[in-house]
Amino acid sequence: ITAEYTERTPRSQEAFARACRSLPGGDTRTMTSYKPYPTYFAEGRGGRLTDLDGNEYRDFLANYGALVHGHDHPALTEATTRQLARASAPGGPTPLQYEHAERLIARVPSLERVRYCNSGTEATMWAIRTARAFTGRDLVIKMDGGYHGTHDWAEVSPFITGGTAVPQNLSGLPDAQLPRGIPSVVADCVCAVPINDLDVIERVFEERGEEIACVIVEPMMGVAGGIRARPEYLERLRSLCTRDGALLVFDECVTFRLGTWQARFGPVPDLTTLSKIIGGGLPIGVFGGRRDVMDIFDPQGDAPVYHASAFGANSASLAAGCAALDHFSGEDIDDLERKGNRLRGLLEEEASAIGIAATAVGQGSLTYFHFGTGDPRNAAETTKRREGREPLRALVHLALLNRGFATAKHGLICVSIPTTDTDIDRFARAYGSVLEELRPIVE
Ligand code: PMP
Repeated sequence: ITAEYTERTPRSQEAFARACRSLPGGDTRTMTSYKPYPTYFAEGRGGRLTDLDGNEYRDFLANYGALVHGHDHPALTEATTRQLARASAPGGPTPLQYEHAERLIARVPSLERVRYCNSGTEATMWAIRTARAFTGRDLVIKMDGGYHGTHDWAEVSPFITGGTAVPQNLSGLPDAQLPRGIPSVVADCVCAVPINDLDVIERVFEERGEEIACVIVEPMMGVAGGIRARPEYLERLRSLCTRDGALLVFDECVTFRLGTWQARFGPVPDLTTLSKIIGGGLPIGVFGGRRDVMDIFDPQGDAPVYHASAFGANSASLAAGCAALDHFSGEDIDDLERKGNRLRGLLEEEASAIGIAATAVGQGSLTYFHFGTGDPRNAAETTKRREGREPLRALVHLALLNRGFATAKHGLICVSIPTTDTDIDRFARAYGSVLEELRPIVE
């Protein structure tokens, strides 16, 4: 499989060799680097990508879920280029700011006021700062294996892609194990708990409820493998936070793609973070929620919290984002739901037809493939399911590229608006043939 890959992609190999001379490991996103070298894409059109060698790929990657309109969508390209010709970042507010904000507020139940930054990482960093400033408390509760970007507070117990979750002391006291480079003091005020475990979260609130600034959760954990927070778990988080004066933060950077979890399944959090598709292909981050909470940023208020960002709410991202939101309707979401359900069904059929135990989990346009049966209930279960299978998973990813399908190397499979039913049929058949080819090493 690797030999076939290198044969197909000599220009990517050359590009990688050159990249290694200026970038450590030849890339700048750990997420996008893999062996023997990543595919270098030259362009995207609709649901297709083309690499430097002219190979074409059906795009089931969607920039790791950050795009939903495909590439070069006429309305998004037109809105972006029109705005770029005017001013990308004039250095003061423009109407685009409230026009984009109004579109978000109309869709996301928790949003009464929002502020802008440039990435999902910044959005969750600011949501945590907001919760701490509003409550006057330090302690943050996150989920074991939860991914909220790469700032220090988010990196306690991350699900390091391709690796394992950092084990946590589940008594509610933070474990000191942190990725290299994060100061150990961070572990004093971030505590990771296993998602969907009601006993643990009850205990944490019992012991430390009055110290908790916020609980931050992805309603469906992405990097950890498409783990859904159970409705009763989210409801319990909601009631514990309300009881003890902590804020509930939903990280919907990815799940906005589903029409937001809070709008579809509830409950309504106090704060929400957004990024990815709401920028129409350009960088964006949003944090927002309850008006009384977000008013801490009002410069006319008492001791306002300072928030700045040279390119926050830049006009290019907002123009692209408005176009993206205007071309992302309820019907689009329903259609993505149907396509995603179909894809998950077909993948499981393919696996079972050749006698491989596998599960395709997820919701709507987001699918995560796991070897073995049953849905993983938390990050530790995903880790166990992946144990010893990283080389196999890497080969699945590479073999799919060889067959002309781009997916995320950690197992996320995205359908997007331009993905057709034929694309899905072909993808599922290709996946089946890859599993067949790899069967000798699957067990
Ligand atoms: N939160 C979630 C749920 C994410 O999936 C991501 C990115 N994959 C982020 C936050 C961070 O976003 P960014 O990469 O824009 O910093």
